[in-house]
Amino acid sequence: MVDAPIIEVERLRKVFRLGGVDVPALRGISLEIESGEFASVLGPSGSGKSTLFHVIGGMLAPTSGSVRLAGQELVNLTDAERTQLRKSMVGFVFQRFNLISTLTAEENIRIAQHIAGTPSDESHLEQIIAILGIQHRLRHKPYALSGGEQQRVAIARALVNQPRIVLADEPTGNLDSENSITVLDTLKTLNKKLGQTVVMITHDADAAAYCSSRVIRMKDGRVA
Ligand code: ADP
Ligand code: MG
Repeated sequence: MVDAPIIEVERLRKVFRLGGVDVPALRGISLEIESGEFASVLGPSGSGKSTLFHVIGGMLAPTSGSVRLAGQELVNLTDAERTQLRKSMVGFVFQRFNLISTLTAEENIRIAQHIAGTPSDESHLEQIIAILGIQHRLRHKPYALSGGEQQRVAIARALVNQPRIVLADEPTGNLDSENSITVLDTLKTLNKKLGQTVVMITHDADAAAYCSSRVIRMKDGRVA
């Protein structure tokens, strides 16, 4: 039997209400991501990419439609259940890294473990730190790291609880081209070596083509 897609989105709509005006951000999105895929969501600013991720990640309730993660319908869950599912299923990587400036790289990674309350798997942690190439940077605080290193620490933080899905929203958006390549290579390697499912948002067609096996184009809240 073939497994259900790890992500199934059907006729997803999200309308924000802003000062009495309806802003449709998602206008009926349907897509599927298979386990082990590296897919990119490519589209111009304002096309609804981040909104799509926030709904898939269970952080934002859709207006209508369906999102299933490993066959589990998010819409039917209570807030507490959805939070629990998100913690176990999804790791997020952000454009701005979102590291805590007063903590070292290692503490930034371990705090995610602590928050999730998952038992620490030291051999898994060692493996991802090795793939990310940040062994020698673990005792440094974010200000002492390059942008590319900070993003690789943030990727380690996203991976530490072994999520089935990594959602990366413009992970190279704040990086120069050299650091962008190291981050894209890292995501590619995690996908190849660990079979990590990765979905990456970008507005950069070159970045999408460079690392993903499938590009999903978005425009005006729809899959183009
Ligand atoms: P992208 O990530 O592709 O740039 P977004 O998902 O951030 O696009 O935004 C899609 C549309 O939804 C835009 O018109 C944006 O202004 C609107 N939008 C996003 N978030 C909100 C919000 N919290 N409140 C109101 N409108 C929003
Ligand atoms: Mg965005």
